[in-house]
Amino acid sequence: MEDIVRKDLVIVGGGPAGLAAALYASRSLLDAVTLEQEAVGGQVILTNEVDNYPAVPHTDGYSLVEAMRQQAEDLGASIVMERVSDISVDSKATSFRVTTSDGAYDARTVILAGGATPRRAGFEGEERFAGHGVSYCATCDGMFYRGKRVFVVGGGNSACEEALFLTRFASEVILIVRKDHLRAQASVARQIEENPKVSVRYQTSIASVDGGELLSSVTFKDTSTGAMHTERSDEGSFGIFVFVGRVPASSLVQKLADLDETGHVITDERMATRTPGLFAAGDVRSKFLRQIVTAASDGAVAATSVAAYLGQPVEG
Ligand SMILES: Cc1cc2nc3c(=O)[nH]c(=O)nc-3n(C[C@H](O)[C@H](O)[C@H](O)COP(=O)(O)OP(=O)(O)OC[C@H]3O[C@@H](n4cnc5c(N)ncnc54)[C@H](O)[C@@H]3O)c2cc1C
Repeated sequence: MEDIVRKDLVIVGGGPAGLAAALYASRSLLDAVTLEQEAVGGQVILTNEVDNYPAVPHTDGYSLVEAMRQQAEDLGASIVMERVSDISVDSKATSFRVTTSDGAYDARTVILAGGATPRRAGFEGEERFAGHGVSYCATCDGMFYRGKRVFVVGGGNSACEEALFLTRFASEVILIVRKDHLRAQASVARQIEENPKVSVRYQTSIASVDGGELLSSVTFKDTSTGAMHTERSDEGSFGIFVFVGRVPASSLVQKLADLDETGHVITDERMATRTPGLFAAGDVRSKFLRQIVTAASDGAVAATSVAAYLGQPVEG
């Protein structure tokens, strides 16, 4: 029979929310483990520039979360690379079974800090060319488009910021925006307007892409008239970056927690869900502002709530 590891707390996800929860759990002397499926740091490692984390005037995402990881581990946090595939609760609701790629944990409490993954734009050919001309990460793939044209799909903050970042490599950056305006913060939108390498095609979406191994054509749709037109160029001479929002990693708790209409986990201000002992923190949670600073804050609150729930002394 498989070995079951017993813990006070299992934290699912090693992004800013999970790392802050791990830090606060360590300080409350909880026997906790943080499980990360892919790369410690979460979505933040996808971004090259972070300018809005208090007391850190300008940094890249990787350096910021690496400092978070180091600080949590220095305080005793245990971070393990395992993918959580299931979370269930026993009939008396006193213990959670957390099943992972490598085994299972019995946990008195769980904090879901699984964040979110990029949403697909939904055009024909998107899956086929993902990683072969269609990208969701400018920091990872921007350098492959040195001197080339790139289309950036989306009109929010992430799309605009990543479009600006891509001007370092691309000869030309064209924002593809469904609406007739940008949804980015005013200061970011102004940088888009003022950058000579960036242009915006409003009321436009991508209907389909095609090519051989790499992209060679893209068909655009005018969202106001429905008219289509196709642009062709040499295979591999351009790329498409998609930044149209993110899908919350809430499926693990869909039977244990209430979700809002966009699939985010509903919590109270202590990060508690409707199942006692189950908490959620960070981008996976239903809330107004999804940023590093609010994810870290959620993680701190969630771990402190766990400590209180387990009858441990709490910070503050
Ligand atoms: C391109 C881009 C640029 C951004 N720029 C900024 C910025 O400049 N400033 C800012 O404040 N915010 C920025 N953000 C937003 C910020 O990254 C998020 O708000 C923040 O990362 C949320 O943290 P989190 O811990 O809730 O989730 P995440 O960062 O998504 O971390 C969740 C972690 O959980 C892991 N996980 C998920 N499911 C499982 C599972 N089943 N088992 C184990 N592990 C799992 C994931 O692999 C991931 O590592 C940006 C986001 C993107 C995508």
